[in-house]
Amino acid sequence: MKKVLLVYLRPYYVRMALGFIVKFMGTLFDLFLPWLLAYIIDTVAPTGRRDLILQCGLLMALCAVGAFSFNVIANRMASAVARDATRAIRHDLFARIMRLSAAQTDEATKPSLISRLTTDTYNINQMLGRVQRLGVRAPILTVGGILITLTLDPMLTLILISVLPVIALLTVKISKFSIPLYRRVQEASDRLVRLVREDAAGIRVIRALSTGDTERARFDEVSREVVSCEREASGTMARIEPSTSMLLNSAQVAVILAGALRVASGKCEVGRILAFMTYFTIILNAVVNISKMFVVFSRAAASADRVAAIIDLPEDMTVLPPELSGSEPPKASPEAGVPAIAFDHVSFRYGHSGENALTDISFSLYPGQTLGIIGETGAGKSTLIRLLMRFYDPTEGRVYLFGRDAKTIPTSELRAHFGAAFQSDTLFEDTIAGNIRLGRPLTDAQVVEAARDAQAYAFVEDDKQGFDTGLSIRGNNLSGGQKQRVLIARALCGKPDIVVMDDSSSALDYKTDAALRAALRERYADTTRVMVAQRISSVAGADLILVLSGGRVLACGTHEQLLASCSVYQELYASQMGGLSA
Ligand code: ADP
Repeated sequence: MKKVLLVYLRPYYVRMALGFIVKFMGTLFDLFLPWLLAYIIDTVAPTGRRDLILQCGLLMALCAVGAFSFNVIANRMASAVARDATRAIRHDLFARIMRLSAAQTDEATKPSLISRLTTDTYNINQMLGRVQRLGVRAPILTVGGILITLTLDPMLTLILISVLPVIALLTVKISKFSIPLYRRVQEASDRLVRLVREDAAGIRVIRALSTGDTERARFDEVSREVVSCEREASGTMARIEPSTSMLLNSAQVAVILAGALRVASGKCEVGRILAFMTYFTIILNAVVNISKMFVVFSRAAASADRVAAIIDLPEDMTVLPPELSGSEPPKASPEAGVPAIAFDHVSFRYGHSGENALTDISFSLYPGQTLGIIGETGAGKSTLIRLLMRFYDPTEGRVYLFGRDAKTIPTSELRAHFGAAFQSDTLFEDTIAGNIRLGRPLTDAQVVEAARDAQAYAFVEDDKQGFDTGLSIRGNNLSGGQKQRVLIARALCGKPDIVVMDDSSSALDYKTDAALRAALRERYADTTRVMVAQRISSVAGADLILVLSGGRVLACGTHEQLLASCSVYQELYASQMGGLSA
């Protein structure tokens, strides 16, 4: 964890050093004040010279202003470094999260990624600020204070010094113990974020089914867990401060006792004892501050570990050089050329799950052809698409795109082949044009063309602002069918080589669905299309239809072939056609 912090602090070493120097000077002024006071009381005051006393008083005021100004400047510099370093950490963490493979995202979980990006980086920010503000000042005050008290009265200083190792040992021991406790606090807050995300996303169904009380109880439970973890961690750390104060206060009592005896016996002057006590208070505060620093440090150490765990994750979807692919590319057919998509005995299992989500899938699809995929929920349709777009690598077998092993194609090139619309895709808080374009360099004409093909043009143009109509978060100001059409326009925009639609026309009425299919047929004849659907009518015109069940290809062929040979397909057809005529 220290490594990750050091890497990010390196560019700020000069700024930090400057800040430390300013802080150092401010702290020296702080330390000089009580000494000056003792000097006035013991040396200047007895002479009775008012002008000298006034001069010394003025010097004290100057020191106080100096201490204040330097401390303020140094604190501002420290906050700026903490802010910039945290921004760099957050930036890199965000960039790494964007590049995580689907399997790595599954493993880390989205709520945990959110809290790493928010609370964990916040904890680091707090620590960087606090350590710079107090990390220099408190030790200088402690060491400087001890050195000055040694010159004032070495005997009394020894009493003070004797308790410091005990305090140091206590602080380090307790802090070490608390780091895993803070890790548990962060894990519990991951669960809290997950629940809030789920509830916020499902607020409508929660209201519709009046399950608010159940959700409140669930929230309460997780919330209690966060509180109890936090209580345990903070409770442990809270032991440091009272113990430190108690030890220091006991030492102070001893110092007062010994000091009184020494003044009484004439071995020491009152002014010195007064200065000594002031230094003692300064040292006491400094040591308490150091122990407080350990609290933020322990919390930030746990957070830095969690951030580093993501930033340091190795790339698990590396692009292989073609010669390492070790596979024979699929043969080109004399009539149709090289297949646009080929699956060669592909099997796949998610992360730690024991069962295959897909088993032994093989098929070839040539450029300009359409693949229809149909099957019950959980049959593996979406998984097949995820392998096709290389969100995951197959556990066995290979996926080929235009004759190349998908693993050998650089990610940006691979993704540029695709335009995809998924059922649960996100619409962003942006204009309709912005949502269709999605940051790609596409012209207005291409956006309008895609909207027209996706049957979205009519309803977009109906609106006063047309393509500049702003969408609310997740496109909540559109109907289900309108959302799907914007998503389909996004997939079609720029005429990619392969268009994938994963159950993305389910909310369209039959007429619009038919118009969409006709537009695809006529205007996207060269585009290879992959359509996942529940309705047979959506895939009936496909060149190849895969009927999936339990992750296996039950049957494949054209609509007519399947109608003639596949009983599952026949039943599906009968039920859907029956549904239509009813
Ligand atoms: P379909 O799209 O046909 O409804 P999926 O491809 O989504 O089916 O799912 C196929 C199987 O894989 C299901 O059993 C599902 O539970 C499992 N599955 C899907 N996604 C994941 C995931 N991210 N992690 C683990 N298992 C998954």
